[in-house]
Amino acid sequence: MNMELPEKGANFLEQIIIDDLKSGKVKTVATRFPPEPNGYLHIGHAKSICLNFGLAEKFNGTCNLRFDDTNPEKEEPEYENAIIRDVEWLGFKWQRLCYASDYFQQFYEWAIELISQGKAYVDHQTADEIRENRGTLTQPGIESPYRNRTVEENLYLFEKMKNGGFDEGECVLRAKIDMAHPNLNMRDPVIYRILKKPHYHAGDNWCIYPLYDFAHGYEDAIEGITHSICTLEFENHRPLYDWFLDNVSIPSRPHQYEFARLNLSYTVMSKRFLLGLVNRGIVSGWDDPRMPTISGLRRRGYTPSSIRRFCDEIGVSRVESIVDIEFLHHVIREELNQTATRVMAVLRPLKVVIDNYPEGKIEELVADNNPEDPDYGTRIIQFSRNIFIEQEDFMENPPKKFFRLAPGREVRLKHAYIITCQEIVKDSSGNIVEVHCTYDPNSRSGSDLSGRKVKGTLHWVAEEVAIRATVRLYDHLFTLKNLSDMEEGKTYSDYLNPDSLITLDHCLVEPSITQAKPLDRFQFLRQGYFCADIDHTPEKPLFNRIVSLKDTWAKIQKRE
Ligand code: ATP
Ligand code: MG
Repeated sequence: MNMELPEKGANFLEQIIIDDLKSGKVKTVATRFPPEPNGYLHIGHAKSICLNFGLAEKFNGTCNLRFDDTNPEKEEPEYENAIIRDVEWLGFKWQRLCYASDYFQQFYEWAIELISQGKAYVDHQTADEIRENRGTLTQPGIESPYRNRTVEENLYLFEKMKNGGFDEGECVLRAKIDMAHPNLNMRDPVIYRILKKPHYHAGDNWCIYPLYDFAHGYEDAIEGITHSICTLEFENHRPLYDWFLDNVSIPSRPHQYEFARLNLSYTVMSKRFLLGLVNRGIVSGWDDPRMPTISGLRRRGYTPSSIRRFCDEIGVSRVESIVDIEFLHHVIREELNQTATRVMAVLRPLKVVIDNYPEGKIEELVADNNPEDPDYGTRIIQFSRNIFIEQEDFMENPPKKFFRLAPGREVRLKHAYIITCQEIVKDSSGNIVEVHCTYDPNSRSGSDLSGRKVKGTLHWVAEEVAIRATVRLYDHLFTLKNLSDMEEGKTYSDYLNPDSLITLDHCLVEPSITQAKPLDRFQFLRQGYFCADIDHTPEKPLFNRIVSLKDTWAKIQKRE
């Protein structure tokens, strides 16, 4: 154990572990991250991954990656592979890669142990009857007419269930606990059901499958997990978790602890919900850059370190809350401010002709790659008579405080000269097609002898060398900050943001970008941080905006 870990500032789980190690209750910390392979991981899972692997790292313990694959209906190898990839990408190493389905024989034997002690029975009630007879918070449940079957009869019937002697839904195995228990989870929960489906990992060896509450603690016990950490919804399942472990002979005794799940504004953290978005074609797939999935964030341009830092900073507690998605943006923005190479890209081009600049001349100028870090060096950019600026950087009739280009006004072109707008050229329908300017040859950046001060600095690209690119701008998928605030009768489809994806096909980027490989990240000056998409090629440049430069989070912080 790392004895230097300061107890002050430890979160509540770290404190529990520190106490357990001190008292000798636990020798080595063992945790696990137990996803069901029924979808792709989202950033909520990242919180659990960082927590479980992080605790193991901090206390020199171990963490397993375990597929909680006890339900053959929705689990698939595609999901398993995606989960492995995401955990690896986040930078974590598991002690063992485990499958709950590898323990099916052991679970089965423990079920027999429960039956043999008179603590489980085969119930022939229908699923509806079981539900109806469960009672309510104020009323005890009604005992099943099959509850008092003999041990022999139950052993015989369970064996018959296992051997395929019953149809799906004909009967289940239930724990025999207490139908009047104040905790509804303790009212004879179902522990095995019949499903005549092959399992993607276990093959077709089984037609009975265990339920989560029965299996989970046993999985932990088999793997020697000491601290089984889950989200708060499972708090009132904990008595059941303990009951199963207390009633059979197990190789080790794990304990369950709960923490508050991560919720993020403008999105929903649920694989089932996200699968719906994929299946209905609302997004292009699990890795659509608007998705809160780890694969979506990766494609959007997030780094593993930014996600880990985000999870670190939001902390661990037992209080439910919603984290502002702006905070996630803030974290990647801060990181990329330090690490992203700067380039100039014009997203919505407007042509500018510099009338007093020689035709055909191409001038080479020096530009720094990252003002935050001189080690990033410099590059050469080309300047010429015809350039492009951003349409929104020009106004024909600007208000006073518009410090960009307008008739008669001056701006600096970044890394280049000061220009003055002389004339506008319009087409027959009155659209501005070209702006004519003059430049001051004495005003070159780095050797400015003009003595002039101008307020605005614009990014630009030279026509002769500009590379055409497609750029995707993203916004929230939903217009509602907290999707649990949906109005009655509405569904999430009513809150889809029509502008969550804007594709710009006529962007112009400086030629240094031809070096870009998929997932390379840049700051496009004044426009934000961008990432070459996984489909990016030199022939078809394609960039995703990760975040804009505007730090809404910093503003929110200032206000508070
Ligand atoms: P979903 O509803 O998205 O399918 P889940 O909890 O059913 O979530 P699992 O595959 O069972 O998904 O989750 C694996 C682990 O990740 C569990 O231990 C679970 O507690 C944790 N987890 C899931 N969602 C979150 C979240 N939003 N915040 C923190 N941990 C989470
Ligand atoms: Mg689950």
